[in-house]
Amino acid sequence: MKTKIIFGLLSSILLLPTMLFADIVYQGKRVQEWPEEARPTFNNQSAGKPSFLLARTPVTQNKSHYAAPKGKIYSLTLLVDFSDQKAPVSVADVEEWLNKEGFNRDGCNGSVRDYYLDVSNGQLDLTNEVYGWYRAKHPKSWYENLQGYTGSDSLMKEVFNYFDPLVDFSRYDNDKDGTTEAINIVYAGPGQTWGQGLWPHSGWSNERRDGVRLTHHQMTDMPGKFSIYVFVHESGHMIFGWPDLYWYGDYCTMGNRAHDLNPVAINDFYRADQGWIPFVDVTSNDVSLETTKPGEVCYRYKNPARPDKEGLVWSYVQNKGRNQVLKGSGLLMQHYDFSIEGNSASDKLGLRIVHASAAGKSSDNPGDQWPSPGSTANTFFKSGTYSEFSDDAYPAIRWYNGSKTGLKITDIGTPGETLTFCIGGNSPEPESSNSTGIVSSSSSAPVVSSSSSVTPPKSSSSSVQITVQKIALETTLPISDNYAPVTLDLNGSEVAKILGIKQNEIANKVKFYGVEPDGTLNSHTTGEGTGHWFDKDGKIVAWDPNGTSIVFSNMDLTTMTTKIGHMPNKVKAGDSFVIKQAIVHGSKQVTFEITVTIEQKTTRISNIRSSKRGKPGNMIFNALGKPVGKRTESGELPDLPKGIYVEIAK
Ligand SMILES: [Zn+2]
Repeated sequence: MKTKIIFGLLSSILLLPTMLFADIVYQGKRVQEWPEEARPTFNNQSAGKPSFLLARTPVTQNKSHYAAPKGKIYSLTLLVDFSDQKAPVSVADVEEWLNKEGFNRDGCNGSVRDYYLDVSNGQLDLTNEVYGWYRAKHPKSWYENLQGYTGSDSLMKEVFNYFDPLVDFSRYDNDKDGTTEAINIVYAGPGQTWGQGLWPHSGWSNERRDGVRLTHHQMTDMPGKFSIYVFVHESGHMIFGWPDLYWYGDYCTMGNRAHDLNPVAINDFYRADQGWIPFVDVTSNDVSLETTKPGEVCYRYKNPARPDKEGLVWSYVQNKGRNQVLKGSGLLMQHYDFSIEGNSASDKLGLRIVHASAAGKSSDNPGDQWPSPGSTANTFFKSGTYSEFSDDAYPAIRWYNGSKTGLKITDIGTPGETLTFCIGGNSPEPESSNSTGIVSSSSSAPVVSSSSSVTPPKSSSSSVQITVQKIALETTLPISDNYAPVTLDLNGSEVAKILGIKQNEIANKVKFYGVEPDGTLNSHTTGEGTGHWFDKDGKIVAWDPNGTSIVFSNMDLTTMTTKIGHMPNKVKAGDSFVIKQAIVHGSKQVTFEITVTIEQKTTRISNIRSSKRGKPGNMIFNALGKPVGKRTESGELPDLPKGIYVEIAK
């Protein structure tokens, strides 16, 4: 959390309760980051590949910058109370607080274990084993009044001595490298004075028990009311060795103390560094249109001159779930430089947010560096406000040596279930009729038909004449055994034009219908959200594995895309279905007539960079669907210009 330096910079911080601060303490001194010799490490013998199924090119993180434990990790929690501060909760209560699935006492969003399971995509199962309560030799006030952290050190030694006969400390050396990963001391009563006594912190010691060194531990207070922030944050220091992210804002739990009960997630750069989500590496030669879900992948653009040290990383961050406390959604851009030790000075940040509304450099307003109350909607890149990122759009975006980055991101879309953006500034225009569908599925071509007048929807007055425009779309669907959908762009800008409203008003202003084969509008949704299931004739039906439902289309009116998929085991290659859905605004109706064809086995290449290997002889098609060549006998691609291609398996 924040250091004392901050007090001088932002005097308003002084108004916040002092409970907001906790530290890493090494050899009696507060530090912002573990020094080299005291960094947590983890010996990952089985650093397996994460199994992400993506169209893009995920990169397995072989070597993490920080300690990266995986799987089930045992953590030890020792409880201590005092004659003047008795245990406010039971051992069983603490076990639930740390481990119980769905723990919600006092409003907590899950237990500490739930938190790390969530942010790690289920890859880190942190299980705490709890012992207590030990009654300390002195009253709490005695420890609190000692100089600096000497009270903490004294209590720590007492606690270790007391529990030694009861606990096998070597059990908490999960990777068997001779040091424990996680020992927590939870004491009764609230923390009292920042930087003194028993103030919550992550500490280091020379203690040795049961043949292992107890190097890292953390101390958390238990005032009687449950919250998970402090435990989660201190675990971040202790287990992974993450630094405090000063001048960073609310965008990571290692930054501000944004919320005690529902602490914000670990930032996507650290998550990808752990291997919890994949990195997708981007170079200045890449051109592609990307669609990404919140927290799904972390895009990375390394400084070619210092590829191991400096880079830009970005991901789609949505203010839902673990990130609910954030004030906005969109692409969150970060600049890292591992040659800078942590975030100890505002003009030298190892990891900083590149705020969309400002460059995020030290010369900026401190309010932009560390927004109050901690995050702003204008930090995020998104359609309508900051839809582009480049050296030219934001002249202050530079590598730390002042040179241009060469990274260009354009056409950043509206945050919804997914977010789209173009890399390289040369992607197919979503509006152009010949490339729209290539991006989201293997092929589709919107056609806007001439106007016609038909029966108005039942809910409208019969005297109102409804003008109907049809948008014809085509997509092919791979045969899937798990409902896997393809995403189809619905031409939001074109639709908005027809309806006479802005694209970002569509979701709020229109009515949504399924359209029966005879043109009747059906206001009942049978799919997910604004979605429907259809039978083979395009009739709207309920989902029923034993019934006639066969194809679904779940629209997202915010992003103006739809997810189309089919029932497992009910289609065969070459099957074709026509399904219709409509949106109505005032006297205008847009009907989407979507022809869905079940395809032969195909492989989609969203970008030429993802296509290093392939089956010899596979046909390669360009964005217009024209064949442009085939794989050589060794599986190499033919010589092609940058762009988006589709590969059809031979
Ligand atoms: Zn901290």
